[in-house]
Amino acid sequence: MRTELLPVTPETLARAGELIRAGALVAFPTETVYGLGANALDDGAVRSIFEAKGRPGDNPLIVHISDIRQLAPLIDGEPSDMAKRLMDACWPGPMTLIFPKSDAVPMAVTAGLDTVAIRYPAHPAARALIDAARRPIAAPSANRSGRPSPTTAAHVMEDMDGRIPLILDGGPCEVGLESTVIDMTGDLPRILRPGGVTPERIAEICGGVRVDDAVMRPLKEGEKPRSPGMKYRHYAPKGQLTIVQGEQAEVKARIIEMYDAAVAEGQNPLILALEPHLPAYGSRRALSLGGDAAGMAHALFNALRDADTLGAEVLFSEAVPTDGVGLAVMNRLGRAAAFHIIEV
Ligand code: AMP
Ligand code: MG
Repeated sequence: MRTELLPVTPETLARAGELIRAGALVAFPTETVYGLGANALDDGAVRSIFEAKGRPGDNPLIVHISDIRQLAPLIDGEPSDMAKRLMDACWPGPMTLIFPKSDAVPMAVTAGLDTVAIRYPAHPAARALIDAARRPIAAPSANRSGRPSPTTAAHVMEDMDGRIPLILDGGPCEVGLESTVIDMTGDLPRILRPGGVTPERIAEICGGVRVDDAVMRPLKEGEKPRSPGMKYRHYAPKGQLTIVQGEQAEVKARIIEMYDAAVAEGQNPLILALEPHLPAYGSRRALSLGGDAAGMAHALFNALRDADTLGAEVLFSEAVPTDGVGLAVMNRLGRAAAFHIIEV
């Protein structure tokens, strides 16, 4: 299959909408990362998403809407008052809410679960595509399973060339990390995946929030997570990644020690560090994680892909503060490192 990479225009959006209605896949920009979309109500189309990504069949998809009126037919019952407050405050935006599903949602979307994840994205091209398709769009990130999520159309091309008919290019994604996934089926919102909407913000709106404890640790043998996505090693660079956490001077010293040892062993190492810390590593090869939390969210997946391009065999990353969007950054870094974190 030939994969076309086209800018977002009224014509390409109309064409993309037709493709979606016909059961085909289209990659499109959102404010978080690029999505790989299909008609959420078409079982066969949804199954082809799993095929194109090589995604395990038990990892459910997020359904994207472009109008709040599309929500009711997808869920069973009314959203709670807390859910309504979150929707009012954070939609459209980088927030996904989990509700009991209605029968209209095919089981392939939810991977057999009786709940469905819904997001109303803010990106104008994402909303225009859903409008053009005149249907909700099921869309995971547009990477091959196990690769870092794509934050540019070029990343999508790297992973999906020959597998899908169309990629809409809307430039680099603003947030750069996937949406916050919040389970709304309990008495308090429970964060299953941290993202652009921070725990602090959710607590402010709802009067409380839980962060699922599996967010910042590896799963135990045989443990069944609340979110199937937690089972998989996501965002993995090809090289082995180690995170070093602690006081800055000691972190720097330990990273330099491990980097120099790797060089002595003939390996190709790479450092991931906060922008202001880069000079401390001298002439060693290092990529910037940005200067602040938003910068880190924006830089991380790019840096992990660049690490592969540079052929890094071992990677050493500074830990980052976990307040605000920093929790989402450390969650992705932690998973990329299979939670190999050294305390100094
Ligand atoms: P992706 O769109 O590739 O970023 O993946 C969607 C994420 O949402 C995965 O981590 C899924 O496990 C999670 N997810 C989707 N639907 C549900 C659901 N019904 N319950 C729990 N987690 C879900
Ligand atoms: Mg993904």
